[in-house]
Amino acid sequence: MHPTQEFDDALPPAARSLIARAADFAGSVVAPQARQWEDQRRFPREAVQAACAQGLASVEVPAAHGGLGLPFGAKLRMVEEIGRHDFGFAFSLVNQHNAASRIADHGSAQAVARFVPALLAGELIGCTGMTEPGGGSDFAASATMARRAPGGWVLEGAKRWIVNAAQADVFLTFAQTEPGSRDRGIACFIVTADQPGFRREPPLAVAGIHASGTGGYRLQDCFVPDALMLYPPGQAFKAAMSSINKARAHIPAMCAGMIDTALARALARGARREAFGQPLLGHQGLRWSLADVATTLEALRLLTYRAASLIDRGLDAQQAAAMAKKFAGEQTLPAIAACIQAMGAEGLLDEHGLGRHLAAAKVMGFTDGTTEIMNERIGRLLQERARHAPDAPA
Ligand SMILES: Cc1cc2nc3c(=O)[nH]c(=O)nc-3n(C[C@H](O)[C@H](O)[C@H](O)COP(=O)(O)OP(=O)(O)OC[C@H]3O[C@@H](n4cnc5c(N)ncnc54)[C@H](O)[C@@H]3O)c2cc1C
Repeated sequence: MHPTQEFDDALPPAARSLIARAADFAGSVVAPQARQWEDQRRFPREAVQAACAQGLASVEVPAAHGGLGLPFGAKLRMVEEIGRHDFGFAFSLVNQHNAASRIADHGSAQAVARFVPALLAGELIGCTGMTEPGGGSDFAASATMARRAPGGWVLEGAKRWIVNAAQADVFLTFAQTEPGSRDRGIACFIVTADQPGFRREPPLAVAGIHASGTGGYRLQDCFVPDALMLYPPGQAFKAAMSSINKARAHIPAMCAGMIDTALARALARGARREAFGQPLLGHQGLRWSLADVATTLEALRLLTYRAASLIDRGLDAQQAAAMAKKFAGEQTLPAIAACIQAMGAEGLLDEHGLGRHLAAAKVMGFTDGTTEIMNERIGRLLQERARHAPDAPA
């Protein structure tokens, strides 16, 4: 049985058909072009649009808003299939999806009508701006400010390290409305690239993930009408935190896709190439090294799918998602490196795409909370558990 089949079988038929469509799109559109996107340092806007046409940015968006209304697990498996060929592109698609889904779930009627159909169709590109030039881990310390004005808010500040920002049209921008109030004063606003006061920064040059269009933007005297406030103060921080478990689960799914590709390449080469009178896989040392990779991959999938299953059942997934993300952050890089090692120098060639995956495996340790922040989350949950545990002998 294919390792993902058990999980897929528990999903509704429409989700399985989405996963098949995603795999097909990944093989026919992403795989043949990923290297070129990276070499040209290009955000493939037309490919995002083509993915949208297949419904790949509509997964969790309710049917009432033109989406597919499928469970989170379907999106998780979709990004695993795309991530096996290009982490950056999968990341871009997730952010496109999430911009549409946030507006569909929480936007005003005006915002929904103006943005959701165009984001689902890929006519507009969306992104979410939390991180700033001054830092990302301490999100409540946001220095982007929103001050009240008649009929809306005026935003000042800058965002950096934002997926899709290189070409996005719609920017979900988190900002502080009450200096010093940390999480309580954070709100979120829909900003558009064509409005006065918006300035796009050049894309960031980061090896391995150029297709993600990661960049930044600045806002100066940028007016946002009340109807385009997505989350009011008091709700924005909570909304960001409640969606973070999903973000922390789909990054490991993309890592599983990358490791799976690397392992398949290493096994294919190991079965064919000979050294010292036998195929490479005939050598125990090499075989054991790939056995470690296969075990890591299995464990990563179990952690990741468990987090997805908790999320879809509405149960607390904080620890499960943080553990999956932490495990991926620590294990993906050595697993891909071991596969390259097993392939000999051949594994370094661009045509295998493993150098790109290796770079992405380092990058993912920062996205949606660093590995240290995962440790913080898990550690705090352990502290809580200890506080509520019955007294045990010291
Ligand atoms: C490719 C990419 C795409 C991204 N996409 C987006 C996006 O679309 N939207 C968005 O808003 N952000 C995005 N981010 C930003 C990401 O969320 C931040 O990089 C992340 O939150 C860390 O922030 P930082 O890089 O500013 O590091 P800092 O917060 O400056 O931290 C620096 C180091 O200190 C460590 N550290 C911080 N606090 C603690 C602590 N309490 N205990 C121990 N160690 C600590 C961190 O783990 C890190 O190693 C993206 C980042 C990357 C790399």
